[in-house]
Amino acid sequence: MTVLPASRPSVHPLASRPSGGYTEDTLALRFIVRTFGCQMNVHDSDRMQEVLRAAGGFAVDRPDEADLVVFNTCSVREKAEQKLRSEVGKLASLKRARPDLVIAVAGCVAQQEGEKLLERVPHIDLVIGPDNVTELPALVTEQMSGAPPTARTEFDVSAPRFLTASPEPGRAPVVAFVTTMKGCDERCSFCVVPYTRGPERYRPARDVIDEVHRFVDAGSREVLLLGQTVDSFRDPELPPPESDDADESQFPHLLRAIAREVPSLARLRYTSPHPRHATASLFRAHAELDVLARHVHLPVQSGSDRVLRRMIRRYTRAEYVARAERLTRARAGLTLSTDIIVGFPGETEEDFEQTLSIVREVGFVSLFGFKYSPRPHTPALRLKDDVAEPVKSERLARLFEVAQSLGAAHLAKLVGTRQEVLVEGASKSEKGDLSRERVQGRTDRSEIVHMEGPGASSLVGEIVQVEVVRANKHSLYAVPTRARGARSPSKRGLPLLETARRAPAT
Ligand code: SAM
Repeated sequence: MTVLPASRPSVHPLASRPSGGYTEDTLALRFIVRTFGCQMNVHDSDRMQEVLRAAGGFAVDRPDEADLVVFNTCSVREKAEQKLRSEVGKLASLKRARPDLVIAVAGCVAQQEGEKLLERVPHIDLVIGPDNVTELPALVTEQMSGAPPTARTEFDVSAPRFLTASPEPGRAPVVAFVTTMKGCDERCSFCVVPYTRGPERYRPARDVIDEVHRFVDAGSREVLLLGQTVDSFRDPELPPPESDDADESQFPHLLRAIAREVPSLARLRYTSPHPRHATASLFRAHAELDVLARHVHLPVQSGSDRVLRRMIRRYTRAEYVARAERLTRARAGLTLSTDIIVGFPGETEEDFEQTLSIVREVGFVSLFGFKYSPRPHTPALRLKDDVAEPVKSERLARLFEVAQSLGAAHLAKLVGTRQEVLVEGASKSEKGDLSRERVQGRTDRSEIVHMEGPGASSLVGEIVQVEVVRANKHSLYAVPTRARGARSPSKRGLPLLETARRAPAT
């Protein structure tokens, strides 16, 4: 380990690390944050990078250019530790050549395994839980000063801290992620989240609204509110819940406050709501707030009451279907997507057919399907993981087949219609290469829409009116008719329209 010189009081220690290729004046911590997992982890990685930048660090592209590599991990499903081991393993020779390289593990695996990771996975210097991210610069500095490998994984239960995003004007993402809460008080028997993220703690509504404001002021058009059960939100500063129902929360009040206080926000979404908190006040918010996207991701997990009970989901199939119907009736055209687990312990063929039938009955336009995998600490470990792997695979394939046909039918119906698309950036296939002038965005129902033609890249961040000309397997292809909003729409939209009509089919 490099020992920092003691006499550089005016510069943060991270900014003064002797390292090859940099003069003393420009020395700074060069870091990489690698992310596995969900939107929550992407959000946490963004905040981690902000914390590191504020401490004098800057991001680099390659591990051999870095002083610090952070793996931000997810343990919800996969064999997370093996994946981590293989990723860290790829750095082994670099670490041997440069023992001063700090390798840190953050996120759910870090929280779940704590100190044990330091013993089990060679080369890791630092294990840091989701609630300890603000300590990252100080802990890295200690490592650089020769401290022994360290694990810091304490939940901030009594005084929760939330990392505040500081978007730079003009550099804010088109779609910004804003966290509303952390942890989870549900005890779904399959889920590791309560053990890796701790109990529910809510961010003050004022902070959430201010952050939405900052993102919008800096150029973001859409905000995605994040929480493990985002619709259980509570804050004593908001008006009381609209009913005495124990499942009623103040989340609809938060949505209303954002809509009222940030009128220039173009779109507002949230993920993931728990169905039991989807109550009448939430349906009313969808009916009344234009800013709310006409799409909700509402995880159902199974269509069988027997399995739902064993999963401890706290709703029945009939209750879920009734809530889904009320949501879709609240706003014309609102669509639903969902999460489903197949092969949960004890799931019979009949249970699985109930799942297929709820998928058809609700008419989900898309879904994420997962094979059940036993997770540490979870109550379902007491049940036998008795659905054979080939059966899980076969059920997942059948589920995807049904989902695919529902999704395709939905997209096909949109051909020839006019839609409003928020252009998010380069099309996935062309990531990082805007020169081909192929961009993608989403409708307010989350359908992915591709467009191309000269001038396409100038539409990023715009809401464009388009005509859908073709349905692909999972997306739409459209030509703009005109752009909405204050940014000289006709000048941007029309040249693209003319050339895009001639664009070849892909
Ligand atoms: N808050 C969400 C909810 O309502 O359940 C949980 C989000 S979880 C991060 C994403 C999805 O992973 C879950 O909805 C579930 O379908 C899936 N999942 C969680 N634990 C799993 C497990 N042990 N095996 C397979 N899939 C799992």
